[in-house]
Amino acid sequence: MGSRLRSLAVTLFGIVLLGLALPAPATSGPLAARGSGAGWSIGRLVSVWPQPARSEIADHTFLFPDGRGGSLARWNPCQPIRYAVNTSDLPSFGLADLQAALAQVTAATGIRFEYVGTTDFVPSGSPVDSYPAGVDAVVGWVSAAQFPLFASPTEAGYGGAQWVPSTSGGGVITHGYALVSGAAITRGAVGAGFSSGVGEGHLLLHEVGHMMGLGHAANPADVMYPTNTLSSATSYGPGDLAGLRQLSSGGCLQPVG
Ligand SMILES: [Zn+2]
Repeated sequence: MGSRLRSLAVTLFGIVLLGLALPAPATSGPLAARGSGAGWSIGRLVSVWPQPARSEIADHTFLFPDGRGGSLARWNPCQPIRYAVNTSDLPSFGLADLQAALAQVTAATGIRFEYVGTTDFVPSGSPVDSYPAGVDAVVGWVSAAQFPLFASPTEAGYGGAQWVPSTSGGGVITHGYALVSGAAITRGAVGAGFSSGVGEGHLLLHEVGHMMGLGHAANPADVMYPTNTLSSATSYGPGDLAGLRQLSSGGCLQPVG
């Protein structure tokens, strides 16, 4: 019993540290793009006890809960998200896992994804990243040289988005990204598919969740929990789905200006 309690305490402490590490949104002007991102950590296989039943907790957070007028920033649900793929460090199973992950987002939100090709562009996570023309989102498998955070052996993925004020309040997410560390896959720290624990499918669901505007969840049964556990979910959980529904309801959005 004692060791289990200590394990839980260590886990919660880790979450606090991850929360403090999140970059603060930029506030340089009313029409400036604001951005933020967060990652998914490996290497700390935590066992949380007691494990909440999946149906008992439906928590979620948003990357941008306080957009214009204090309202949520989200993608315009009335048009597809045009995405390009950075294949710099693409594993053989990468695209199949990506298609399955995006299909889960579409099922939950109704928002469609339109593939527009490959790209060399690597988002930095900066609120003023300049995406290629015609590209709303980038999903990529990249190296530590391309995305320095991945030099850490415990960081396997990173995702985020940037937004501008909308005409109807809140904000419009205009660009987003979901990055996977190619090195984490090469090391074998993340395997193919949607197996529990350390599957790339779970990792992509998590980072694409950030790309859609979700923040971290406190329930280990939700995909948006920030650290992989021994029983990481292989599909969006109740908290994730509640957040995704909120991110896709409320009608069409248009950027100010
Ligand atoms: Zn994360």
